[in-house]
Amino acid sequence: MAVKSLRSWLEVLQQQNTLKVVNREVDHRFELSAVAKKADGFYALKFNHVRGFNIPVVTGIAHSRELIAWSLGVQEEQVAERFAWAQTHPLQCSLVASAQAPVKSVISQPNLDVIPIPVHHEKDGGAFITAGLVIAKDPTTGIANVSIHRLQVLSSRHLGILMLPRHLNQIYHKAESMQQPLDIAVAIGVDPILLLCSQAQVPLGYDEFTVASALYGTPLQLVKCETVDLEVPAQAEIVFEGHLLPEIREMEGPFGEFPKTYTPAYPKPVIELTAVSSRQSPIYHTIVPATYEHFRIGGIPREGGLLTLMQRTVSAVKSVNFSVGAMQRFHAIVSIDKKHDDEPRKAIQAALTGSQDIKHIVIVDKDIDIFNPEDVEWAIATRVQAAQDVIIIPDAPGNTLDPSARRGISDKMGIDATVPLGQTERFAKIQVPGQERIRLDDYLYGR
Ligand code: MN
Repeated sequence: MAVKSLRSWLEVLQQQNTLKVVNREVDHRFELSAVAKKADGFYALKFNHVRGFNIPVVTGIAHSRELIAWSLGVQEEQVAERFAWAQTHPLQCSLVASAQAPVKSVISQPNLDVIPIPVHHEKDGGAFITAGLVIAKDPTTGIANVSIHRLQVLSSRHLGILMLPRHLNQIYHKAESMQQPLDIAVAIGVDPILLLCSQAQVPLGYDEFTVASALYGTPLQLVKCETVDLEVPAQAEIVFEGHLLPEIREMEGPFGEFPKTYTPAYPKPVIELTAVSSRQSPIYHTIVPATYEHFRIGGIPREGGLLTLMQRTVSAVKSVNFSVGAMQRFHAIVSIDKKHDDEPRKAIQAALTGSQDIKHIVIVDKDIDIFNPEDVEWAIATRVQAAQDVIIIPDAPGNTLDPSARRGISDKMGIDATVPLGQTERFAKIQVPGQERIRLDDYLYGR
């Protein structure tokens, strides 16, 4: 049974002893973020007392592959496959009346000053909303788009927004070319499936919420906004409504981003808020940048996308891991059950030309555990001759937040770490007969 709200997800975390409640007062500037970094990868945190605010803050709610697997109802090694399946089996959402929507409990004038929005990193330009699902409709098709964007608080009712050259950016430019403001809603405080669906690797014109419905197994419940023509998750904690203004640019940044480096400040579009709706006693969610939660939520849907993309070209591709040391964005480790020696090379070409995020990719045989960095490194150490097994693609479109990219242009590398067909004996791992049956304790404390 899928969890369909932040509150029910927090109950799950509590039952698993993964949620820790912080009752000591913390400052929303740095202190909250610093405590979260210390707990990163171990615990989800709920800060009950943020100095000067009456709203609690949660963070780290989806910090591990294990937790995300739990939310998706699958094993850890199946999360990419499950997400890939959902992206090809979208399910329509349903619309509920305001009376049935918890997020409609309180409707008021927008005032960002009462929300405990953290200042996360030392050189950040201010407070940033980092876990807001930004919802908009394409003005030409009316189809919704859902994505997460960092949003800098510029005033009590204005937010600066970073839009990388993806869907929301395209939609905004359509509206701007018609000199029209674009209706926007920002939903904060949702379950992991909704966070993941916002990162779905689907084309423009594909409503990401329908991926959440597929993962739930039942339609996601949406409710109409008060002041804009949009529908938002009925179970969210807080929803801001407003407009992305045409022709307006204000300074946004700097901001400590997922590559663990700062992106500089430059002028960006601005959202003007028109209303806020929330639950009674809402909970605010922040994703502290460059934490496991940030990496996992962005990375796992990208794994699903890459799996689909590669299997279209090479059906022998079995599974994908976006490794966490590369923020689950830039490095992919791919397992293949190859039938021809040219398949790894074809898979590398498909991945590096089809995905802007992937910078380095390693293809390994199915005897390698792609989730074990030592095993992967062993394959690179013993199965690679660089002059023949490494493919370099110069000057390809890359991730614009990669500090080494040249205005988003990046060199890419693929490593074929598979064994040539017919030569398995020379490359097979040594084994001791019976080792897998040994229980060490029997020998150390043994009878
Ligand atoms: Mn989209």
